[in-house]
Amino acid sequence: MSTIRFSALQEILNRTAIKVQENEKRSVLFGKNVFNKHAMQQYLTRAAYESVMNAIEKGTRIDRKIADQVAVSMKDWAIAKGATHYTHWFQPLTGATAEKHDAFFESINGSLAMEKFDGEQLVQQEPDASSFPNGGIRNTFEARGYTAWDPTSPAFIYETTLCIPTIFVSYTGEALDNKTPLLRALQAIDTHATAVCKYFDKNATKVNATLGWEQEYFLIDEALAHSRQDILMTGRTLLGHIPAKGQQLDDHYFGSIPTRAMSFMQDLEQECMLLGIPVKTRHNEVAPNQFELAPIFEEVNLAVDHNSLLMDVMQKVSRRHHFKVLFHEKPFVGINGSGKHNNWSLSTPNGTNLLSPGKTPMKNLQFLTFFVNTIKAVQENEELLRASIASASNDHRLGANEAPPAIISVFIGSQLSRVLDELENVTKGKLSPQEKTDLKLNIIGKIPEILLDNTDRNRTSAFAFTGNKFEFRAVGSSANCAKPMTVLNTIVAKQLKEFKLEVDALIEGKNLKKDEAIFNVLREYIKASKNIRFEGDGYGKAWEKEAQKRGLSNNKTTPEALGVKISKPAIDLFQEMNVMNAVELQARYEISLEEYTMHLQIESRVLGDMARNHIVPTAINYQNTLLENTKNLKEIFGDDYKTIAKEQIEFIMVISKHITEINALTLKMINERKKANKLEGLNSAKAYCNKVKPFFEQIRYHCDKLETMVDDNLWPLTKYRELLFTR
Ligand code: ADP
Ligand code: MG
Repeated sequence: MSTIRFSALQEILNRTAIKVQENEKRSVLFGKNVFNKHAMQQYLTRAAYESVMNAIEKGTRIDRKIADQVAVSMKDWAIAKGATHYTHWFQPLTGATAEKHDAFFESINGSLAMEKFDGEQLVQQEPDASSFPNGGIRNTFEARGYTAWDPTSPAFIYETTLCIPTIFVSYTGEALDNKTPLLRALQAIDTHATAVCKYFDKNATKVNATLGWEQEYFLIDEALAHSRQDILMTGRTLLGHIPAKGQQLDDHYFGSIPTRAMSFMQDLEQECMLLGIPVKTRHNEVAPNQFELAPIFEEVNLAVDHNSLLMDVMQKVSRRHHFKVLFHEKPFVGINGSGKHNNWSLSTPNGTNLLSPGKTPMKNLQFLTFFVNTIKAVQENEELLRASIASASNDHRLGANEAPPAIISVFIGSQLSRVLDELENVTKGKLSPQEKTDLKLNIIGKIPEILLDNTDRNRTSAFAFTGNKFEFRAVGSSANCAKPMTVLNTIVAKQLKEFKLEVDALIEGKNLKKDEAIFNVLREYIKASKNIRFEGDGYGKAWEKEAQKRGLSNNKTTPEALGVKISKPAIDLFQEMNVMNAVELQARYEISLEEYTMHLQIESRVLGDMARNHIVPTAINYQNTLLENTKNLKEIFGDDYKTIAKEQIEFIMVISKHITEINALTLKMINERKKANKLEGLNSAKAYCNKVKPFFEQIRYHCDKLETMVDDNLWPLTKYRELLFTR
């Protein structure tokens, strides 16, 4: 066995689970390191507290004097908890989080002195962040980017640093991050959903969008992960033969959690509690060594920050347990990949879920209104939703018999389908008293009972209604949820705006009663959005054909999927909703393309290196052993060797064939890569997608065949069975 593979395996045999000390009850730990309401009440003056609360609830500005007070209190609180540094914590367009730490103390004439931390440092910073992707928004001569405090997401202490969630914008005000457009989209949905809510409750003041993500991931032993450059460099295996046992037996799913993984989870959950991330469920997933973690849902901005923070914390905690966390959507061929379902709903400040029916017919009509408008928004913008989850890594997962295809469709279950079918028949214009009563009693009146029996589930749908929320299932496990959440909230906001205009026009123009007008508009929406509704098997080939007939998009690759982002209707939409302007959209489009190209370029380089520098020499090595053996047999048995060494000779020839193919294919791939590198933007991404990427599977085929032939003792790469089953 190659030394690297051998020592990695040796190392993990010596591993034992680290005991996690659970000192305090989880509920006591919760939010201990967060400058939350409780901490603010203790540390802030009443005026400052109220000002921050108003900023959170009503989006009002915090004036400079108050910001100074908040800063001082925040610093006192943080130092009392052992913090030594502070940082503006933001989410640049790399998809990850960024931080630059400054000490609270500085050295003056050899002694420590308190560094200034007042409103100015809290509210705004200018990190030297010229190397973050900006899609041309900032020219290098005007490289200034500003981070600005987001008071709606509370500051927290991680390790010994006070982290202040911030947005990241250019000197000219364009968003350079994922958070800014998200906050604007949340503002839009608040405005337009609240306006619609007023039909049902005159006193409605605010609507929050809510998100509950479900994070899937793999845990691989650190030593094994480090023994493979593909895992280290690309987050996935580019080579590896599928083991005899994969997930066929379904024996991992919801099974008992392995001890080492459990100890990692306990440690992680404690960290999450301290940081106020309300993690709730944990379980094994379908594939070996695959797990899932889900929190209680929260307001979208907070939930997105918590997911980004969680991914970072997971990496750090995993190191303590000698694991590597893989967030890649498809780290191993032949077994399931990972996703991050985004459960989404709308709620009022008192916690009323707008996608949950209520006790009165009016409340049920409110439910139907938001329900139907969401479906209509998805119908009209399915391609934008697809684009929002596009990435090189998610391309491997979508449509891979385990995840929704690249086609976006909405599943609502047979019972709600029946309700919508009946509503299609509502009379145009004024309703007779009889019809009104019938609607109230027999159609919308029955909705709560329908939803109580929520056994109707379809796991193959990209966007499914699950009783009191929609679940966007096509989101990838490594994604920043801000992207799909920005799009979803923007399109629903726009839809609600239109709905309000249409209903008002009927009330004023046609003299209809409010509920009559609502029924009339909903009826038309239900008819218009039928194409997006699909109750069948989303994984099947038949659906692809059917979807094509319906005119739904099926953009299988990222370069295809991204185009819609800079289409005229998309620019108009995002501009109208004040979420992004044309420059910001163009920048994101270019960054996504470049990210795609870079990913494939790295994968291609790593694959080329592994194939030619690791696999081919190993195969030659083994072939030499066979040749030596054959020569020896000839020496002893003379001409009879041909029968005696028949297998060896055949092996020698087959190995030669694979080596020849690997070399030829790798050279061709490198050649295509060179051509792709000369191109730019979309053309380069397309070349990588259509000309370079196809070689990955071809090269892999021959390498994986060699894996099954070459002496196990010589094989340099840690095998799938070792990666997935050693614990
Ligand atoms: P399941 O596990 O069967 O998919 P759950 O009810 O356990 O369903 O919820 C799964 C996820 O949905 C959790 O992350 C949860 O926080 C989230 N969720 C539940 N209600 C809402 C809601 N109103 N808004 C957003 N997310 C929600
Ligand atoms: Mg789910």
